[in-house]
Amino acid sequence: MSDPVRQGTVERVDATLSRVRVGDDVLDCTVRRKLVKFAKGEKTVVVGDHVVVEQTDRGEWVIKEVLPRRSQLARPGFRGRTERVIVANVDELVVVVAAAEPEYRTGLIDRYLVIAERIGFPAVLCVNKIDLAKRAEIERALGFYADIGYPVFYVSALDGTGLDELRAHLTGKESVMCGHSGVGKSSLINRLIPGAELETREVSEMTGKGRHVTSGATLLALPGDAERAATPGIAGDEAAGFVPTGPSRRPTPGVAGYIVDTPGIREFGLIGVKRDELWRFFPEFLPYDGQCRFHNCAHIVEPGCAIKAALDAGLLRPSRYDSYQRLHDELPASEWE
Ligand code: GDP
Ligand code: ZN
Repeated sequence: MSDPVRQGTVERVDATLSRVRVGDDVLDCTVRRKLVKFAKGEKTVVVGDHVVVEQTDRGEWVIKEVLPRRSQLARPGFRGRTERVIVANVDELVVVVAAAEPEYRTGLIDRYLVIAERIGFPAVLCVNKIDLAKRAEIERALGFYADIGYPVFYVSALDGTGLDELRAHLTGKESVMCGHSGVGKSSLINRLIPGAELETREVSEMTGKGRHVTSGATLLALPGDAERAATPGIAGDEAAGFVPTGPSRRPTPGVAGYIVDTPGIREFGLIGVKRDELWRFFPEFLPYDGQCRFHNCAHIVEPGCAIKAALDAGLLRPSRYDSYQRLHDELPASEWE
């Protein structure tokens, strides 16, 4: 008989069963009643959780313990309501945009990056559909993000450009993918994870609603080297020089990394951002901390503003400052303003 107590990663949570990967096995588990009660109606087990599972005498698998989380992505609560954890053990956010069809907007990129900063996760930018644009032009327009700390990947889910680099980066991590409908998230995931078979759709067919049938997050396992080699059609990528450069820590044996497919990061991101703290979510503004004439400078119209001076001196990207202004306008004024 196999070991009845094992450790795994929760890949999906449904109403009654949770799907837990334990090595090569994917087990449908119930949650031990005591855990459920403890949670007072809140789900205690979320996607991404590392759990201890146990097989009962009747052969059913039960989650008996949730191991401490190294991080969590939570939907912030409105007005004092408690936040709801959506995914556990997230390492980074991958902001996916398209080089064309639909063409990226820096304002939207910046909104996602502010969200990443606010929830405290590193972020990378993934520019898909590079096959539809002139690469040099896109690099000139977006390459600066790498200088301010957000690595940029130029990829094509269609022709495979850049996917080895992206895959190498995702190795050893649990990454949450976000981005507008139609930028190619599903196509990218299908390329990176053969068998994921996410539904993709023509941009022209999109109505903007009802796209995601499932409401919860799902963890999709990036195949490990052995699995990749054994899967027809992926081994070939190896020839293009796939070198795993990420941390060696692997979320689960046999799994190279996880991609989290979750709807709606954008909707909740700015909740809880205070207007007078917004500028702190623009990392390249931070060196000017304390250098404005007024200690409570909003960096909008005040004389002696160090950030505006840096902008005028060409040290800051105008598009980033524009995004700052726009988001600042959108946020409610603090009580004492
Ligand atoms: P999602 O809404 O972000 O999941 O986007 P989809 O993966 O459904 O893709 C939307 C449309 O863009 C589909 O018609 C895809 O075939 C197309 N698409 C996705 N990736 C690429 C790419 O790299 N190049 C081109 N030319 N089209 C792509
Ligand atoms: Zn200022």
